[in-house]
Amino acid sequence: MKSVSIVVPVYNEGENILHFTAAVKEVMEKQPYKWDLLFVDDGSRDNSLELLEDLQAKFSYVHVLALSRNCGHQIALTCGLDHAEGDAVISMDGDMQHPPELLPQLLAKWEEGYHVVQTIRKDTQGVSWLKKKSSALYYRLINALSSAHIRPGGSDFRLLDRQAVEALGKYREHDRFLRGMVTLLGYKVAEVPFVASPRFAGKSKYSLSKMAKLAVDGIVGFSVVPLRAAFVAGLLSAVLSFFLLLHVLYVYICDDVVSGWTTIMVCLSLFGGTQLIMLGIMGEYLGRIYTEVKNRPLYLLKNKEEDK
Ligand code: UDP
Ligand code: MG
Repeated sequence: MKSVSIVVPVYNEGENILHFTAAVKEVMEKQPYKWDLLFVDDGSRDNSLELLEDLQAKFSYVHVLALSRNCGHQIALTCGLDHAEGDAVISMDGDMQHPPELLPQLLAKWEEGYHVVQTIRKDTQGVSWLKKKSSALYYRLINALSSAHIRPGGSDFRLLDRQAVEALGKYREHDRFLRGMVTLLGYKVAEVPFVASPRFAGKSKYSLSKMAKLAVDGIVGFSVVPLRAAFVAGLLSAVLSFFLLLHVLYVYICDDVVSGWTTIMVCLSLFGGTQLIMLGIMGEYLGRIYTEVKNRPLYLLKNKEEDK
């Protein structure tokens, strides 16, 4: 019998874990597979880990890994994928926003021979207009800038078959944007649309800063266009400065020199600003090179024996 692992990163989801586990069990026990739920506790500070360990003691289908600290959703997910043993591995959130009722559809697509079954979020209930719009805009931007084509609404609710899991496991970059990395594999992808439900309980654990980091990781990790844009902007500002120089010379020859204050201020702020932006863009890439060169482990587990 084929086996399916469901990987769930968890950060302070104490109020959701029992409900989520029951909901997944109800769906999966009707499926003709051996299955297990692999929770990765991402350094939760509530009672999530105790609850998970209780479940693990009670039910043979529950396994728990605990990261030594909060490393973020993408790393927790990576840890789960590294350790999951199923022939297919499904990743999903533990807050009921990824509906367990969809699992049979993902499995059916897998049976049709797809290596990757990607869910596409058509809408999210209970999410602000601003979050929806900024997400749509972001996907347009990243697709315009990079060669990896990421479908708008792509989420981290997906099925990967064993071949795709092992392939993805070879990508060890530190600043991870799994949604993009999966598109690099180039395997056959099926898509399953869904409407994300509101969170069962609690608030989003993706703070604004975590979301901003993911957004920058997506762009910087998949595109060097911003670096090229820096060059083009530098070039444009050099051309502009040439014309300004002509103007300054003209004023020097034909006019009263002291009147140049406005020009100086405009030049200073224009070129100063452009240079700082360019430096910032370089800094983003440099920072990432630094992180990669250090080559620190992506995560550590609390329990050393489970470390791979
Ligand atoms: N999560 C995590 N580490 C974090 C933040 C979130 O493991 O640092 C988990 C969280 O418990 C949930 C999933 O990642 O299972 C998605 O997070 P969340 O629902 O907060 O994000 P949103 O759906 O609001 O984008
Ligand atoms: Mg959520």
